Amino acid sequence: MKKLKRENLDELVKVMNVFSENEQRACIGGVKYYNENGVCLYTDGSDPEIRIISDSAYNMAINSIYTSPELSLYQNSEQLSMTTSTETKSALLLSIAQENDLSSVGFVHIISNSDSSFYGDCNSKPVPATTTISVSGSVPGGSVSGSVSVPDIVWVSDIRLNTEGSNFENGNYYDLQLTIIHEKAHARSPLDQGSATSEVNAYNAVYNNDNFKYASTEFQEFVKKERLKFAEAATN
Ligand SMILES: [Zn+2]
Repeated sequence: MKKLKRENLDELVKVMNVFSENEQRACIGGVKYYNENGVCLYTDGSDPEIRIISDSAYNMAINSIYTSPELSLYQNSEQLSMTTSTETKSALLLSIAQENDLSSVGFVHIISNSDSSFYGDCNSKPVPATTTISVSGSVPGGSVSGSVSVPDIVWVSDIRLNTEGSNFENGNYYDLQLTIIHEKAHARSPLDQGSATSEVNAYNAVYNNDNFKYASTEFQEFVKKERLKFAEAATN
């Protein structure tokens, strides 16, 4: 991640009063700027908005701050939306998955499925493994030592994230992050996968997350609705 140099930051503060309201929002309030390759170039605070900016526009905005303050980050970027290119959305999902350590619980796959109500899923399968343990002990007339192999099971999770999901609609970072939190909860609980209880737990992980309040209204409503739906199903 690139960082503003300290001297640039100091100068930025000096010229801040000439900025328009939008530009102030970009510099002070904090918006997350990613390039088309999913690299976060500039971020500040907990503002939910994701904006896409090319490397060249970013460098231009940063370097021309005294002579042409109108060439700001905000004006030279576009808010993330459903119509952002699949390649960029794909890179962004990978990047946010990485920021949230998703690969620690499974394999991450980015897919493009035209069903916009499909944000992602998680499939865990048991894979046989062998654990070898050493044994030693005494028997009448001597001692024995050696090793035995014990069959074991490890769970391997495949997590899929969809570039065409309507969770891109509001260009909100937390709509994407919380989708990842949901799938992460599934990956951590492979034994009850596919059940209503599993969905309740995964939606609870989202609902109870500190960042839930920053998600878009639509995403929050969606989560509340699904959470209740599966809670009802789980008790029947
Ligand atoms: Zn789920």
